[in-house]
Amino acid sequence: MTDAIDQACEQEAFFLASALSKQAKKPHLQETGTCLNCEAVVAVGLFCDADCRDDFERRCKSEKLNK
Ligand SMILES: [Zn+2]
Repeated sequence: MTDAIDQACEQEAFFLASALSKQAKKPHLQETGTCLNCEAVVAVGLFCDADCRDDFERRCKSEKLNK
């Protein structure tokens, strides 16, 4: 039975770690109702899709590098 408990613990640690890293990575941006990358209207979140999020993050990083 310890295997099942170990597995559950590992899973919890994994989810916790991924939740923390997501929080740390996420910039504190406010939802505006439009995609921050292409300005399409979005109901929830900052971007209309993952591509726009990636685009935006890439642009942020390159802007920081250029400064
Ligand atoms: Zn977009």
